[in-house]
Amino acid sequence: MSTKVIVIGAGWFGLAAAKTYLQVERNVDLTILESGETIGGTWSRERVYPNLLAQQRYGRYEYSDRNIEIEGGNRNAFVPALKIHAYMNEYAEEFGVKERIRFKTAVTRVVRNEDGKRWDVWINDDSELMTCDRLIVATGLTSKPILPRIPSEDFTGRIFHSRDLGTQYDYITSPAVKNVTVYGGGKSAIDAIYSCVTNGKHVNWVVRKGGGGVPPLLTGVANGKVLDDFATSRFGSKLHPSLHTNDWWHWALHSGKNFLGQWLHWKYWGRATSSMQTNVEYTKSENMSKLTPNIVDHGAYWINVGPAVLTQPDIVDWIHCGCQITVHRNTIENLEGDRVHLDDGSSHRADAVIYATGYDVIQPAFSLEEGANLGLPTPVKQCPPEIAAKWDRLEAIGDKEVVERFPRLGKPPPHKKLPVSCTPYRLWRDMVPLPLLSGEKPDRSLVFVGTVKSYSTSIMSEAMALWTVAWMSGRIHPGKSLAEMEHEVAVSNAFARRRYLNLGHKFTYQFYEFLPIVDNLLREIGVKSQRKPDAITDLFEPYVPEDYRGMVEEFKKTHGISNGEEIKKEK
Ligand SMILES: Cc1cc2nc3c(=O)[nH]c(=O)nc-3n(C[C@H](O)[C@H](O)[C@H](O)COP(=O)(O)OP(=O)(O)OC[C@H]3O[C@@H](n4cnc5c(N)ncnc54)[C@H](O)[C@@H]3O)c2cc1C
Repeated sequence: MSTKVIVIGAGWFGLAAAKTYLQVERNVDLTILESGETIGGTWSRERVYPNLLAQQRYGRYEYSDRNIEIEGGNRNAFVPALKIHAYMNEYAEEFGVKERIRFKTAVTRVVRNEDGKRWDVWINDDSELMTCDRLIVATGLTSKPILPRIPSEDFTGRIFHSRDLGTQYDYITSPAVKNVTVYGGGKSAIDAIYSCVTNGKHVNWVVRKGGGGVPPLLTGVANGKVLDDFATSRFGSKLHPSLHTNDWWHWALHSGKNFLGQWLHWKYWGRATSSMQTNVEYTKSENMSKLTPNIVDHGAYWINVGPAVLTQPDIVDWIHCGCQITVHRNTIENLEGDRVHLDDGSSHRADAVIYATGYDVIQPAFSLEEGANLGLPTPVKQCPPEIAAKWDRLEAIGDKEVVERFPRLGKPPPHKKLPVSCTPYRLWRDMVPLPLLSGEKPDRSLVFVGTVKSYSTSIMSEAMALWTVAWMSGRIHPGKSLAEMEHEVAVSNAFARRRYLNLGHKFTYQFYEFLPIVDNLLREIGVKSQRKPDAITDLFEPYVPEDYRGMVEEFKKTHGISNGEEIKKEK
């Protein structure tokens, strides 16, 4: 009987995992369960809208074996979300994945089958049961919106989360709407605001004083150079500390053992921060001054709030002008009639309120107990005390190690520490639950993909997909004790907290150091990680998805796998 594989989620990571599985193991019986109506997750038809652009330029947000056609010939343009959605559809069709997706199929519960080996996956309010040998969870970090509890029973306008802007787009841009309030300081808020002002609406942008603040607004260009190119080059990644690098660069820039290197490195980040601040001119207008990031000193280095690349740079002018955007640093107290009331006693009119208030990362399909045991995010207050105590101890040891290895991270800038409501993912290689590694033979039946945030979703998703298939098909082995793997996870989480401050408490943030992580994953599965023709280009040229083209075939060759090539449909 063929192995039964279920992938939950048809977003970027789920598609990569399904396609790679089918390429490597041609005979598996694979199904993708997707609660939405169309492919793409973040980029599904329901969620995208005309002005939404990816924060990556052409050639950066695509899978390695199929390019996104460049619109208008400008490869430095940001990729439109609608185009990404269409591309993902074509991609899923081309690789025989689409026909395996069951849309409008929400997984409501996942439990161990009574045989202790397989997983029971309950769908659509437990009305149907599917059992599988291998389960890949790719439900994303932006599936479950957080809605603030604000009294609003008497509000006459519409209220919705930024996740639903796609379905609300016609309404929000209609003549019936004149005033919109956007609540939240992140990139989703900026995207929503841009759509509103370019459609002639007035926007009151409300950002809490006590929260994480507004991300550094990045124009994506410095000294005429595209930042993407630099950030995705190996040289660019050397300017960031990484747990996976222990080379000369680490010694010179991050170890604290080379005074000159450390001094130059810090000078560089000081200049990068000034240039970032000059680009948007925070002091030029009252509106913009209210958006100054919480961390000013070397703010480009400390990523306390997810960075926002200004995909529509003219938003800066809209903000300075103040003609259609009014910025408030307040908390919304309540919504009543057609007015939004703020905590300073003021109020303003609103026909609609958009909550750009982020996402909950808890996996609802796993029970709290099972989730906590597997190392999934769990509300801190509900985490069993023995699990909490164990990880407090391990992460304290990890933290000490991080500070010893990266002394700079031991001196964080002054910043407000936000309350932590949830434990982080605690998965080996950011994918495998540790309790499944405790037996004599590892249990390879469950993997989570897409739990990390990195600069290159595309490259990370394919590396994780191939690693997952290698792992699930028993082609790689941990070669370490459980205690060693737990220690690795604890160090990795401690690192994220030191490096990315508040963000690192919430997510396994691995933003700028994604290349060494991808290198590590590929090395483990026997695939070449340095993919440029020579050492110079390897160091200075940007790494883009296309550089990884052919790695599945390479993997198959290394592991003597000869089936599966025909999965790609003939055109
Ligand atoms: C507005 C916005 C813009 C973004 N822009 C960028 C960008 O420019 N660059 C970048 O790198 N990243 C960006 N991101 C992050 C983006 O989410 C990731 O790049 C990537 O798309 C995540 O893919 P994923 O497969 O992990 O998750 P998702 O795309 O969220 O896919 C998860 C899928 O799982 C499904 N699902 C969830 N729960 C269940 C369930 N119980 N049963 C069945 N199905 C379920 C969801 O419906 C969804 O289709 C953006 C995010 C948002 C919200």
